[in-house]
Amino acid sequence: MEEKTDVVIVGAGIAGLALAVELQKRDVSTLLLDRRKGPESTPRGITFQPNGLEALEKIGILDQVRQMGSAERILEVRDWDRQLLLEVDYSVLDHPHNYILTVNAVQVEQLLGYNAENMGARTLWSTGFDDILWNTGLAQGVRVRVKDEPTDIKASVIVGADGPQSRVRAGIGATTKTRKYHDSFLVGLVGPVSELKDRARQYQAPGKMLGIMPAGPDASYIFYCVGKRQFDDLKRQGVEQFRGEVTEAAPELKGAFGAVEAWTKIAYFTPSFIRVDPWVSNGVALLGDSAHTIHPHAGQGVNLSLQDALVLADVISDAIKAGDTSAAKLAPYQASRKMFADVIGQHAHYTATYALSNNWLVKRLNKRALRKMQKNKKLMKRALEITAGIFSKKPGLIEQARIGGILP
Ligand SMILES: Cc1cc2nc3c(=O)[nH]c(=O)nc-3n(C[C@H](O)[C@H](O)[C@H](O)COP(=O)(O)OP(=O)(O)OC[C@H]3O[C@@H](n4cnc5c(N)ncnc54)[C@H](O)[C@@H]3O)c2cc1C
Repeated sequence: MEEKTDVVIVGAGIAGLALAVELQKRDVSTLLLDRRKGPESTPRGITFQPNGLEALEKIGILDQVRQMGSAERILEVRDWDRQLLLEVDYSVLDHPHNYILTVNAVQVEQLLGYNAENMGARTLWSTGFDDILWNTGLAQGVRVRVKDEPTDIKASVIVGADGPQSRVRAGIGATTKTRKYHDSFLVGLVGPVSELKDRARQYQAPGKMLGIMPAGPDASYIFYCVGKRQFDDLKRQGVEQFRGEVTEAAPELKGAFGAVEAWTKIAYFTPSFIRVDPWVSNGVALLGDSAHTIHPHAGQGVNLSLQDALVLADVISDAIKAGDTSAAKLAPYQASRKMFADVIGQHAHYTATYALSNNWLVKRLNKRALRKMQKNKKLMKRALEITAGIFSKKPGLIEQARIGGILP
């Protein structure tokens, strides 16, 4: 196999697929490669925020994605006794897409994959990335492995969209700061919850969290904090035990659980927060979770990645046209996007750790912040602009402390 293309994208997840669509639109030939045997088929939920919805509109698939999922303007936050702590109201935002949309991520990947291939992008499955090929300090292609056979692919730019454990990132020697969390989660799609009626809901208490997001007419996406428990131990206890715990916390889920008989429909994960620098090197750029992995409590990983893909497509297309793919030419991508990942990543870190903390002071501050936001719509709007990814400059320390409930 002898391949040559303008851009090789390592990783055919949502980030890589979105970039392939945008590059093909700009007449940049694109080859995706992924070590998986084929597209993902196990259903999983994903929530789009206003910034991601705007990006989907620019990519040209928002209307189709809307038909797949459920749009909500209200996210209720309740305590473990089901008392309402806060109604997060997205309609306070001055934005054309002031709502959240939860869908089955597999359907979005299928749609992006279909569009990418229709526009001329090619995908090689069962193809593992091994190394970047360098020539006098400039990347000129990749060495991959197809069925244990090493093969070289020539390209002007290599994009690492290969997830949180990115090997492309290691290949450019980027530094990573990783924070691992102690609490793990179970996530999955269950049946519809009629009681919710156009609202999403989250229960929280120290060490506990349960989210229920409507995800289309026949499904709800749930995420449930299992603390330090391991997946094997949970499996030994059985799906019945899980169903019992979840429906005790949220009785409205009872009718929704018929669809879950086996663990194959439930995923287990332990979040991490990975900050990366730099995102670019000579002939190489990082995209999606490879550039920033954040706590999913913010529901922002994919949203940021779609926005990143739009900017990166412009930067790569300009670089290829200019015949200059150096780090300096690719640097405007990092300069325009890293601040958003840093602010949202930090915000996700604080909101997730505050919500789950057992520390008495943090518990008090967290409750106080939620109560303050319920009363003060201006404060809610500012905090929500960060969650929704629609701010334009970095919030100052005092503003962050007010949002976090530390200052009055
Ligand atoms: C439980 C959970 C819930 C989440 N909920 C939300 C949400 O509601 N909203 C939101 O915006 N974000 C959410 N996120 C975050 C979101 O899922 C990620 O940010 C997003 O999937 C990242 O996409 P990606 O394309 O960068 O990476 P991935 O989807 O991880 O894709 C990387 C691809 O690279 C391939 N790959 C890896 N290594 C190699 C190699 N060496 N060779 C070839 N291929 C390779 C992999 O097979 C994979 O297909 C959630 C995350 C989790 C864990």
